Amino acid sequence: MTLKSLTILAATGLFLAACATPVEPEPVAAPEWHLAIHGGAGVILRETMTPEEEAAYTAGLNEALAAGAAVLREGGSAVDAVQAAVIPMENNPLFNAGYGAVFAANGTHELDASIMDGRDRDAGAVAGVMRVKNPILAARAVMDNSEHVMFAGPGADQFADAQGLEMVVNTYFDTDRRRQALDRLLESREGKPLAALRTDEERFGTVGAVAIDSAGNLAAATTTGGMTAKAAGRVGDAPLIGAATYAENGVCAVSATGHGEYFIRVGVAKTICDRVKFEDESVGVAAAVALGEVADLGGDGGVIVIDGAGNVDFVFNSPGMYRGEISASGSSTAIFREPAAGDE
Ligand code: ASP
Repeated sequence: MTLKSLTILAATGLFLAACATPVEPEPVAAPEWHLAIHGGAGVILRETMTPEEEAAYTAGLNEALAAGAAVLREGGSAVDAVQAAVIPMENNPLFNAGYGAVFAANGTHELDASIMDGRDRDAGAVAGVMRVKNPILAARAVMDNSEHVMFAGPGADQFADAQGLEMVVNTYFDTDRRRQALDRLLESREGKPLAALRTDEERFGTVGAVAIDSAGNLAAATTTGGMTAKAAGRVGDAPLIGAATYAENGVCAVSATGHGEYFIRVGVAKTICDRVKFEDESVGVAAAVALGEVADLGGDGGVIVIDGAGNVDFVFNSPGMYRGEISASGSSTAIFREPAAGDE
């Protein structure tokens, strides 16, 4: 028998053996949908919040979770879900993201928002918009209907208007609570840097969402009014892809809240996703490292993160963060930093 025929025989034998014992493909579990949201981070302490305030924030978080979950439960996309979750918080005056946004030093509101689709890393953002009622819809329109990633200022509002989005006068965003915060801050300023004077009431309430859908796609979205008494034209981290918002399928999705100048300088959202992707870290570890860098520079805040398998983590270096999550297995919300298991 020649070497060639031996080889053919051996190959045939292998083929027959393979046919005789077919290898069943491993069943691939369909990913479970999962959504996480935040409504800002800061010195949020149980002792300074009334039960009524706590209940109102919890209701606002639950409304956002329900809106996002309705999309995911029906098999909708992660990017539609994060958008759906953000809109009720933009419309809720408790949060700093639309109606009820903080005032800039000149007494106007300038809003920032961004959204990212992990499927193709498509992204859209608006900065300093003053007339579009729901900034996240403007960011989405930039992503879907323009060849750009970011629009700023009057051009961004014009784009939103041309897209048929609901437009409002800037005073629509006014609330007494935020007006008082501006007045207090400007009165106490006396040339001092604003960062040292701002209480959390005057800064926090940025909103965001991250999600995985039942096809395993990731997405993230963030909206903010920025920081009370910010200079006109100041742009924070919220509309910057890679600073407050990032999503890449199979890796992670992030939405951040905190002192934007530090989050921009660290590139928080992209740092987290890069550590997950290239260093094989968990989203929780990667987020802690990135927030450690924020803290080293003097900043504070938090992130919500989700990985490609749908694991969610909430990481913040402030005393509290308005937050919540929902999946097919249930939902929960939290505000304060609860003591870790084993703490006194
Ligand atoms: N990151 C926001 C900003 O700097 C503020 C916040 O999240 O509290 O505009």
